[in-house]
Amino acid sequence: MRSERATIQKISLPLSLFLFAFFSLTKILLFDNYIDNPSYAANCDFMNKKAVYPGSFDPITNGHVDIIHRGLKVFDQIVVAVLENPKKKPLFTTKERVDMIKSIFRDMKHVEIHSFHGLLVDFAKNMQARVIMRGLRAISDFEYEFQMALMNRKLNPEIETFFMTPSVNYSFLSSNLVKEVSLLGGSLEGLIPEEVEEKIREKFRNDPNVTLI
Ligand code: ADP
Repeated sequence: MRSERATIQKISLPLSLFLFAFFSLTKILLFDNYIDNPSYAANCDFMNKKAVYPGSFDPITNGHVDIIHRGLKVFDQIVVAVLENPKKKPLFTTKERVDMIKSIFRDMKHVEIHSFHGLLVDFAKNMQARVIMRGLRAISDFEYEFQMALMNRKLNPEIETFFMTPSVNYSFLSSNLVKEVSLLGGSLEGLIPEEVEEKIREKFRNDPNVTLI
């Protein structure tokens, strides 16, 4: 009994040192290489940092633009996904909304713009994105966003939802508010990109009977 205890005492220190060295070396060889070596990272699924940013964008505002710029600090590629929803009657057609966003981000190759219909998780999967990015302005957004995030997780547990908050300058801003202010002739300075302001005024000028739902 005593001799067994002595043997255990004798081997316990070298054994711990060996295990420590073995696991440290394994971690360095298997894991740290993935992080340091870009070719490993590029081929590695878990390093694919692409996010889908879905919405109606009817029209895109500086709040959306702010979220996309913030998203680019976290993700390598942002796919802006413009929802084609036959149930909603948007002010701008899907093509008009896509074209406006394309024009704003024309010089940024890390931002791509598509339209989609059907399930968002299916679109994200087709785009090989594992993350859905959404903006949270205030508590009022939270309940709906929370429900959506959990439903999307139920539909595809592989896809995570990631929330970002905009600058306080845009935390009160919504596409609907922009349309109402514009219809009533108010100033939209600093709230929407210039090309969008032109398009929205043009829309109301060409069709004075246009209604907002
Ligand atoms: P949806 O119809 O899906 O709400 P929106 O175009 O209104 O589409 O919004 C798309 C996403 O952008 C949503 O996550 C929304 O919360 C977010 N968002 C909208 N306006 C702003 C803003 N001013 N600041 C930050 N996020 C915003």
